[in-house]
Parts: sequence; C-alpha cells; structure tokens
Amino acid sequence: MLRQWVKSGAAHALCWSGTGKWIGSLAGRRNLPVVLGYHNVVERLPDTARTSIPAMLITRAMLERHLDWLGKRYQFVSLDELGDMLQTGASRTKPVAAVTFDDGYRDFYDHAFPLLRRKGVPAAVFVVTGLIGTGRKQVHDRLYLALAAAFLSHGRSPRDVARALGRLGIQAPEIPPHRLKHAAGMPFALTRALLETLPQAQILRVVEELESELDLEQSVEAAPEALTWEMVAEIRGAGMTIASHTRTHAFLTNEKRQRVLEEVVESRRELEKRLGTTVKHFAYPDGRFDDVTVPAVAEAGYRFAYTTCLHRDLSHPLLTIPRKVLWQNSCLDANGRFSPAIMSCQVNRTFDLIAGGCETRHSSALDGGAHTAKGSFQVTVP
Ligand SMILES: [Zn+2]
Ligand SMILES: [Zn+2]
Repeated sequence: MLRQWVKSGAAHALCWSGTGKWIGSLAGRRNLPVVLGYHNVVERLPDTARTSIPAMLITRAMLERHLDWLGKRYQFVSLDELGDMLQTGASRTKPVAAVTFDDGYRDFYDHAFPLLRRKGVPAAVFVVTGLIGTGRKQVHDRLYLALAAAFLSHGRSPRDVARALGRLGIQAPEIPPHRLKHAAGMPFALTRALLETLPQAQILRVVEELESELDLEQSVEAAPEALTWEMVAEIRGAGMTIASHTRTHAFLTNEKRQRVLEEVVESRRELEKRLGTTVKHFAYPDGRFDDVTVPAVAEAGYRFAYTTCLHRDLSHPLLTIPRKVLWQNSCLDANGRFSPAIMSCQVNRTFDLIAGGCETRHSSALDGGAHTAKGSFQVTVP
C-alpha cells in the first residue's frame, strides 16, 4: 500500500511540474487518440454512498469543465471518424478526442445529451440492449445498493454478509486493503470483488438473496434507470453514435464462450434491427477482455472495440482500443477543485504509466474460471 501511495504521489508531482505530458509522449501515448469514458451524469452528487456507486458519477457542471478543457486542445471526433483514422493511419492537424458514455443510463439523456448538443460534441453511448425500455436496473447497481443497504443501513457486519454468501455456496472474496480506506468503502470494494470473480448468474443469486432478506424494493426502484428506445432514437437522430455494451452487462471474462457470443451477437442484432444501420462499435463491460472475448467480438462483426486500459491484443488492435474512464473526482486537486494539470495527466495516461496501471493479464482459461496465461495471446503497452 505504501508503495502504491509513493507511486501515486510521484505521479501527482509529475503532473504539477508538467513533466507528466512529456512522459506520456515518451511512452508513445501521443500516437494514440484520446478516448474518454464516462458513466452516470447527474445534476448534483447524492448526499450518501447509499444511493449510487460514487466512482461512476460526474455532475453535469464537472463534465462541462472536462469538455471545455478538451475542446481547447483537441478536435472532437465521432467514433466512426476515429475508426477511419485508426484504420487508414490518417491524422489531423489538431489532435483528436472522442467522448463516450457507458451503460445507456437515462441520465445521459437528461443531463449529458443537452450539453453535448449545445457544444457540438459527437459523443457515443454504449448501451445494454436487454435493459433499454424495460424498467430493469443494472446488475452492478443492484449489487452495490444491496451491499450498501446491508452495511450502511442495516448494520450488517462483513461476517453477516459472508454468511449470506455462504448460504449460496459462494465464498466471500478477499478484498485488498487499499480498497478499504474506510468502512463506507466496504460496499463498493465487495461489489468490485464479486463482479470481478463471479459469473453473472451467481451475482444475480447474491443480489436476489440480499434484496429479499433486506426488503430492498424501494432502494432498487431508486437505482439509475436505463434509456428507452425512443430516447435512443432521438440521441442517434442528433448525430450521436449508439453502440453495443452487451445484452446484460455481464463481465465477459467471467462467462463461458457460448454466453460471451450470445451477449455480443444478440446486442448487435437488436441494435441493428432497431436502428436500421450497421453497428460497428463495442465496449467491453468494465473494459475486461481476454483471448476468448476478443475473437468473439470479431466473430460478431464489430470493427472497433474499446477497453479501459492501455493493453492491446496485437492480433486485434482495433478491437482493443484504449479508453480512459473519468468521473467526478478524477481531475480534482487537493482542495477539491478541477485541476487542468491533473486532467492533462489523466488524458495523457501519466498515472497509468508511472503507477503501473492495469494489472490484469487479459488471458483466461474459462473452464473452472482460473486465470492462466496462454502463449498465443500478446499483450503490450503501446
Ligand atoms: Zn459498463
Ligand atoms: Zn490491461
């Protein structure tokens, strides 16, 4: 933990000194276009961590700060324009940036869409087709809200929750200490740990067990809603890109190949049927990809797919395009104010390059769920 703190402190110092951008260029980062990812966009931040996953939120006002910073330095491009540039190797006089929003939340329509339209930013929305217009909520939101209710509202201890998991035959995962800065971090840390290790069918059993044990109907109702198909059509009609983020938001690296194929093929088919156009772009849920998911995405016919780290599959570089995920606190200084220097470091990936970034091996043996390296899969940092 100390090592991590020192690394992150060093990265901040580099940002403030302006050296971060230079390091980004040295590492070849500047050859890659900037692709940013956001999730929920809200009017104001909720008062407590009981109602939303904090690391997914950004206020409309903070998003505007980010867009203004980007607009002064980059030319905004759509994902189609970006894809053409990556495919042909063409460049523009001004560096380019693409802005994307994951999960297809209704709050995109309410808060981000008017702002993006006003500013003429051609953003993309990666939607979860099985949720659009259904009233059903994202599994990760339901899991987080159930765990937040267990720990923060119902006073359950980690041992109580471990027992609830045990009743389902699921062993509570170990949580790395750096994820548990304070007790309020427990719901998020456990949410991440479960999502990262279990197939979605098991996550749903955990969610349903907790929801019925704690009587959480109201809390699930308060979870962020998905877009409707009418909203999707309007967003597309305004020149934004609608792209796929699977059918149910299963973390694909925890699923068997057949389920992976269903998720990527069916979501594309549904979007193409509804939109009457070819769907070329895909974003891996949580940026997770491996040597099963990338070929499945290729087989489903996508031409471009987006991750959330700097690793690339050299056999499919256009299906492992790096994105940087940002949120409310990602570009703040020590006083909680928006920091152009930290924004620059985030966009130039200085924290990832200095502090080590993604530690995932992106190679899996799905049978049994154990992760083992396979020689055929090449991963590299550009
Ligand atoms: Zn997602
Ligand atoms: Zn990675």
